[in-house]
Amino acid sequence: MQFIDLNSQQERIRHDLERRILSVLDHGKYIMGPEVAELEAALCSFTGAKHCVTCASGTDALLMPLMAWNIGPGDAVFLPPFTFFATGEMPALLGATPIFVDILPDTYNISPEALRRAIAALKKKDSSLYPIPQSVLDMDLTPKAIIPVDLFGQPADYTAIHAVAEEGNLMVLEDAAQAFGGEFRGKRTCGLGCDAASTSFFPAKPLGCYGDGGAIFTDNDALADLLRSIRVHGKGEDKYNNVRLGLNGRLDTLQAAILLSKLTIFPEELQSRQQVASWYTEELGDMDARVTPPVVASGNVSSWAQYTIRVPESSRDHIAAYLKQRGVPVNIYYPRPMHTLEAFKGLGYAPGDMPVSLKASREVLSLPFHPYMKRQDVQQVVTALRGALS
Ligand SMILES: *Cc1c(COP(=O)(O)O)cnc(C)c1O
Repeated sequence: MQFIDLNSQQERIRHDLERRILSVLDHGKYIMGPEVAELEAALCSFTGAKHCVTCASGTDALLMPLMAWNIGPGDAVFLPPFTFFATGEMPALLGATPIFVDILPDTYNISPEALRRAIAALKKKDSSLYPIPQSVLDMDLTPKAIIPVDLFGQPADYTAIHAVAEEGNLMVLEDAAQAFGGEFRGKRTCGLGCDAASTSFFPAKPLGCYGDGGAIFTDNDALADLLRSIRVHGKGEDKYNNVRLGLNGRLDTLQAAILLSKLTIFPEELQSRQQVASWYTEELGDMDARVTPPVVASGNVSSWAQYTIRVPESSRDHIAAYLKQRGVPVNIYYPRPMHTLEAFKGLGYAPGDMPVSLKASREVLSLPFHPYMKRQDVQQVVTALRGALS
């Protein structure tokens, strides 16, 4: 059994993949070839966003909007610590300061209530309102942006987040790297009216290419123009008239061709993901109370980048080893919340400042999940889990 099986998918679309890859080899436009614009149009209609600017990775998809907004030293960017490192790394790389906001215990997404308190604490320089280290409060930061993460495929609570953002006049950058294809109240992620949204096409993400890739979505015309300039070294009207600093942040034509092929079956794969998730729910139905299955908030559709359960901290190592021994691969996303990482030691956070994230990092366990899993695969995983607990 594989944790994520990309081979079954490839077999299914192998012919179409080869046709599209060969077509790129024939036309030879490896950089910004016609497939890139075709993909961007297809992704706009898929998400409902007005603009899509593809880029080289999900990491660049976070970096580029922050660059466009001139986020840098003296700016505070609010984000959850229970996520992949890039979410906090990109604002910090630009010299801004990540302000960590704890998550909700059921969805693992940023708590809007904690967000409101963290903004107030920063503005009033009062850590009794929310845990922010004194050295950070002393930096006189200006609240600039929020990066909510749609963890494991499930959107954060954007109704509440937009309300907080409006009150505080903050930009919202949705990190939907894990949630492409997920939905919030009938709308797809990356089309939820955030100032910008980013996603990743890393192979293991719900919509993955065969290398690195990403995309940024926005309804804002001026931002889309800026992003297209930043994507190519800050180009002006002409490529050799650079009007600002930028990156080499383009998506390869070959990856765009591969994504176009994968996008044709993506809606069906999303349905299969729902099916596999509901098999898990059924099989886990009368499971030992020590196992907590994932919770999808009402109004949300998860794209199930991960199927993550919670188990007691004291037995997680045993359960993981037992499952692996029986041929069931598992992973821990994420073993260390960002505020406890060496890279952010300088900010001065204590592990207990974000208690919900800390507890999650000690209890989560992600089980094998992909759209080509059969019911008997799910049963095998759950049987092994029962064995581990007995
Ligand atoms: C994967 C991921 C990223 C980074 O995407 P890459 O394409 O690997 O650069 C950013 N944020 C989250 C939440 C992710 O899961």
